[in-house]
Amino acid sequence: MTNHDSSFRERDAGAEKYEPENVELPPLYVRPFRVLPALRYLLFDVLFPLGFIYIAMAVPIWWYLTPSLETMSVFEPGWIGLLWIRNCAILVLFAGSLHVWLHRMKKQGRQYLMNRSPLATDPKAFLWGDQIKDNMFWSIASGVSFWTGFEAISYWIYASGRLPIVENAAWFIASIYILFFWSTTNFYIGHRLLHWKPVYRHVHILHHRNVDLGPWGGISMHPVEHLLYFSPFVLWWIVPVHPIVIIVTGLYQALNPAVSHSGFEYLRLGDKLKVSAGDWYHQLHHRYFNLNYGNKFLPIDKITDSWHDGSDGSLQAQKQRWRARFR
Ligand SMILES: [Zn+2]
Ligand SMILES: [Zn+2]
Repeated sequence: MTNHDSSFRERDAGAEKYEPENVELPPLYVRPFRVLPALRYLLFDVLFPLGFIYIAMAVPIWWYLTPSLETMSVFEPGWIGLLWIRNCAILVLFAGSLHVWLHRMKKQGRQYLMNRSPLATDPKAFLWGDQIKDNMFWSIASGVSFWTGFEAISYWIYASGRLPIVENAAWFIASIYILFFWSTTNFYIGHRLLHWKPVYRHVHILHHRNVDLGPWGGISMHPVEHLLYFSPFVLWWIVPVHPIVIIVTGLYQALNPAVSHSGFEYLRLGDKLKVSAGDWYHQLHHRYFNLNYGNKFLPIDKITDSWHDGSDGSLQAQKQRWRARFR
């Protein structure tokens, strides 16, 4: 950090204006390549804690909260409706708890809060003049419906014998990593399309009305964006996996944004423990729009020159890039 940066920034986690450290490339992409940090990143950091939580949730969901294969072998509204209710309850519990803990009860005050302002109550921008109610509406009415739709088609493909269920531990682990890379690539490509002006104006603007973020903003999207966003399921319509991987796919797509859009960089648990929560890299995308389209797990923005690490120098470089493009 330069002297200039330190005067520009207020880095004390408890201060009024908290701004996180600059975004760094994950060890997997740092050159010269160092094996141990890269391995630690892949085997632990990528999965901790959320990846482990999604896998731990997916197992009982498959055993106790998913209709039988026999039922799902016929594509009909009864069991799909039950899936919708199940998914709705999961999202409400997960995003709702985070919201209440951080933004309603303010259990950690402003500590690690990346937002500059409180969540909006702007009658023109949001349904019912309330960012939270508006975000809940789009997340549940549209988000849970697309999540459930893709998930139901995936189950039906396996339950009706169109693809075999693969019961192999090594392939299970491999498919989780494939999911992370595939979902991130899919997100980057879809997100670039969403920032194409005609699409942005009619579709993606719904998500971008959220400049300061809360957990319910994560999958508050236009239905067309949901169609793109939940499409990673389609891979499992061609490549056979265990149905638990299908559940992890849904949890990863639907719940991860509640955490990454929480507005807080870390979740403080007790006096000493803090775990990563909000994604500063994506929060910068909400603040400045034309940069950081992907995420740092697979840093495609580095290649496409749209990477902003949060520093003043990096922001100036991005501004120069836009001026050159729109001159
Ligand atoms: Zn977002
Ligand atoms: Zn965007």
